[in-house]
Amino acid sequence: AWEAVRQSLRVSCGQRTFDGWLKPLVLAGGDFDSGEVRLSAPSAFLANWVQTHFADQLTHAWRAALPSIMRVAVESANEAARPTLAVEAPAPEPARPEVHGTALEARYTFDAFVVGKANELAYNAAKTLAEGGQLAFNPLFLHGGVGLGKTHLMHAIGHEYRARQPQAKVIYMSAEKFMYEFVAAMRAKDTHSFKARLRTADLLMIDDVQFIAGKESTQEEFFHTMNELISAGRRLVISADRSPQNLEGIENRILSRLSWGLVADVNSADFELRYNIILKKLEGLPSANVPNEVVMFLAKRISASIRELEGALHRVLAFATLSNRAIDLEFTQEALADQLRASQRRVTIDEIQRRVCEHFRIRQSEMGSARRARDVARPRQIAMYLAKQLTQRSLPEIGRRFGGRDHTTVIHAVRKIEELRAADAEIDADVRLLMRQLEG
Ligand code: ADP
Ligand code: MG
Repeated sequence: AWEAVRQSLRVSCGQRTFDGWLKPLVLAGGDFDSGEVRLSAPSAFLANWVQTHFADQLTHAWRAALPSIMRVAVESANEAARPTLAVEAPAPEPARPEVHGTALEARYTFDAFVVGKANELAYNAAKTLAEGGQLAFNPLFLHGGVGLGKTHLMHAIGHEYRARQPQAKVIYMSAEKFMYEFVAAMRAKDTHSFKARLRTADLLMIDDVQFIAGKESTQEEFFHTMNELISAGRRLVISADRSPQNLEGIENRILSRLSWGLVADVNSADFELRYNIILKKLEGLPSANVPNEVVMFLAKRISASIRELEGALHRVLAFATLSNRAIDLEFTQEALADQLRASQRRVTIDEIQRRVCEHFRIRQSEMGSARRARDVARPRQIAMYLAKQLTQRSLPEIGRRFGGRDHTTVIHAVRKIEELRAADAEIDADVRLLMRQLEG
């Protein structure tokens, strides 16, 4: 069965992830009849990492192979059995559809959350709400890109709120789960208990609400849930990957309800915040010996999201443990080769056009216009040149994006700008400046 589980993990997680994290696991034993499996990892670190990041996949894969499996424990080989590393399998679904919140992740606390310019407003709002006093706003709406800390903040609100008011009913769930539970309740012709449970929450948190875009009956139910909670003075926290104005496929009445509350964005972290986050994560790992230049390097190069940053750090730590090597800059670059390539900032043609037009103070429509006057033709050529240099787009595609021009026009523009850069210091300086701005 273990071989089958490994195969299916390889497929579901991808070869690279599998090789990096799951391949070193060995089957340590278990009591299949009582539903328990024990896996062993070569280090405590890896055991811990697998437990926090792959618990669901592991349980899932085991259950697919042996439905009787209820628990998958990951222990570290050098510390023998460590019962604290047990991974609880989710409880079996009850026969009658009921609404359960999802358990809060223990690591996602306010203490573990690093505050910076990018998330200050969201953090303060979350903290204030969690403290449970009178509030001028309801709901709290958190929005921002993937992996920037929205879910972390919501769980932190839940922990804090519960700590202060142990009797309070706190429910956290993804919008996906909300929909799933609601649809199941409808099928079972029992929406009553669904409503009763959600609408009596003291604090209800729904994560990733963009998921119910276009789902009409779920939105209808969601809207009534919101209304009922708000008018009863109960707290509501909602997140999405976009601001209310940009949430397509969500009913206007929901959007306007959202914008009545406090709308707080969680932005991409700047270098300083990324740096501080790494230091914070390392505080929790006193045995990890990571020199400052590596911390700087990670903070500088892994900028797409905090999740990626965390992943990169853990990968470096795990590789160091597995290979028994010291963590220096060279080792870090080696361990992260793939990730560094993938996380290079991707510039879009649209951004290039926008920046170039700002720089030369011309309208963006000139990028696609037929005008050949020098004051628009030159910037247009520069933009095509930058599109060729900074994106992976093909020449015909670039041509299309510049008013449907032919790819030979793009080739001509690229050559022309190359010549000019060599001959004209001013143009060269313009191009360099634009490149720097675009590459961030
Ligand atoms: P989102 O829900 O916005 O996609 P998450 O809340 O899941 O993002 O965050 C992704 C990861 O990054 C989590 O492991 C979280 O702990 C971490 N993280 C995000 N922001 C911070 C922060 N400001 N301080 C510490 N960790 C953070
Ligand atoms: Mg999230």
